[in-house]
Amino acid sequence: MNNSDLKPRALGVLRRFYGYNSFYPLQFEAIQCVMQGNDAVILMPTGGGKSLCFQIPALLSDGCAIIISPLLALMKDQVDALQAMGIPAASVNSAQSDSFNRQVIEQVYAGRIKLLYISPERLLTEIEQWSGEMKISLFAIDEAHCISQWGHDFRPEYTQLATLRQRFPSVPIMALTATADRLTRDDISRQLGIPNARLFMTSFDRPNIRLNVVSNISSTDKMKMITRFITAHRGESGIIYCLRRTDTEKMATRLRSLGFNAAAFHAGMPVAEKEQVQTAFLNDDLPIVCATIAFGMGINKSNVRWVIHSNMPKSIECYYQEIGRAGRDGMPAEALMFYSFGDVITLKSLAQDSGQEAVNMNKLRRMQQYAESNVCRRRTLLSYFNEHIDHDCGNCDVCLNPPERFDATTLCQMALSAIVRTNQREGVTAIIDILRGSGKTDIIAKGYDKLRTYGVGRDLSFATWNAYLLQMLQMGIIDVAYDDYNHLHVTPFGWEVLKGLKQVMLSKFSYTQRAATTKEKQTKQSSLDEMPPADKGLFERLKETRLAIARAQHVPPYIVFSDRVLDVIARNLPTTREEFASLYGIGEKKTEMYWLQFTATVRDYLATHPRG
Ligand code: ADP
Ligand code: ZN
Repeated sequence: MNNSDLKPRALGVLRRFYGYNSFYPLQFEAIQCVMQGNDAVILMPTGGGKSLCFQIPALLSDGCAIIISPLLALMKDQVDALQAMGIPAASVNSAQSDSFNRQVIEQVYAGRIKLLYISPERLLTEIEQWSGEMKISLFAIDEAHCISQWGHDFRPEYTQLATLRQRFPSVPIMALTATADRLTRDDISRQLGIPNARLFMTSFDRPNIRLNVVSNISSTDKMKMITRFITAHRGESGIIYCLRRTDTEKMATRLRSLGFNAAAFHAGMPVAEKEQVQTAFLNDDLPIVCATIAFGMGINKSNVRWVIHSNMPKSIECYYQEIGRAGRDGMPAEALMFYSFGDVITLKSLAQDSGQEAVNMNKLRRMQQYAESNVCRRRTLLSYFNEHIDHDCGNCDVCLNPPERFDATTLCQMALSAIVRTNQREGVTAIIDILRGSGKTDIIAKGYDKLRTYGVGRDLSFATWNAYLLQMLQMGIIDVAYDDYNHLHVTPFGWEVLKGLKQVMLSKFSYTQRAATTKEKQTKQSSLDEMPPADKGLFERLKETRLAIARAQHVPPYIVFSDRVLDVIARNLPTTREEFASLYGIGEKKTEMYWLQFTATVRDYLATHPRG
């Protein structure tokens, strides 16, 4: 096909099936690459629009595109989404009967399927039986990082995909991943045997996700903040990540007792129960899941609005992947992470026992630097992935509420002196108790009430001292002896501070102000910003309409329309078929299927809420 034809044809398909008017960065370039018969590696963050990169070539080419995907849930989700847009897609998998699978293959031979989803192991056995009459337009290898042993999702069956290039020398191969991990990325084209593949990589920034970190508050305050947060986000879907399996259960029980609809999810649960939780979450029947990291892979749900980390994750890779599950639709989303001394201690001991101590300790240190960052969090996060932005993001807690600094030299000297006078044989809690003159029996029993420092810091709360000690740790003024009961030690730098040779500035502790309960969301949203704000009441009604349709069709609500499309409807108030059809994210099939119900919802709403 000639190049000048390609663009209008690709745009035509984009409008007709998807209802979009323009491509995201590098989508068209990637489409062009495979349409010219070349291989491509696509590195884009979650929500970056990877699927279109192979779906549009599939629609523009003769034959059928084979999409290799590691998980049944992902395949089902994509096939549902494509069918809802009127695109002939199907899957061959072990959850379907043999005869159904055979029918699917026959349909492919007959040229009636444009995209066939299949797992790698199944593909390699199926392929043996396919005759030369099977016309394959391209191979798309989704979640391509699974081929690398460096990554965290290594799947041995993926390595056999290296034979595709030899068997089908003229069929283009496209590999796609959202992994931000350098080593894994570099490994992909080598492992797949496509050394000449062109690389398409976009920024890994997810600007719609607001980043928040809350350091070192008591577990009671943490629970209060979590409940305040989810109350402010009622009716929205979100995930609370916990460190241990038992924590997920405790958290879910606690939230249920407070009247929230929440469930636990972890690897130790029976398969049926896990599936039930996942399905309820996808279908918007269950808004809150308290999970270990086991939850998420295979979740394509585009309307996850928030992610809470109840503890600090063990690496930035994990953190990035987990927060990335929020806001895939590009609408504002919120990430809130809690970080404490206790987390560091637990994670250090996990790292020490991991068999890869040096690597894991380093990852942990980088994670800690992020948590303690006093500069824009997004800059810190992206710089970990070697991406540098030249401006502050304006959508993280540091940007929105810059920390206030003050001369804390005297304050540090008080703490250092307490540490020295107890011969560096006490942990954080005892030191704070001494500073605050707590009067606890064990403090008195050890005679600490006789120390000169006893009670000198009683003006500050326990949480405040805790936060300042954490900053002192981060600045290298004190050290925690993880191999010696977590006792606090004074570093050489600390001694200089104690002797008055060095001045120390700390950030003022005020977690309540920096906390993430702000309801107003001023995330930049490209052109949508110029439109009138969506009416919250109407948005809720549209969600109800969507839910009713989804229930009737047995698909998750986000397959009917993403939150973003509902937002566009609420702003534009379409009351006719034409108006409805012209909107962002509404293609021909969805217009036909849904225009009546959604325009009726809009009209009803306008009748009771006239515009001024
Ligand atoms: P990824 O697979 O990279 O996570 P998806 O392909 O699922 O991303 O796309 C994320 C969302 O963005 C989907 O709702 C998709 O329909 C939408 N999208 C993709 N490309 C475009 C585009 N060019 N214009 C508008 N929306 C798009
Ligand atoms: Zn920022």
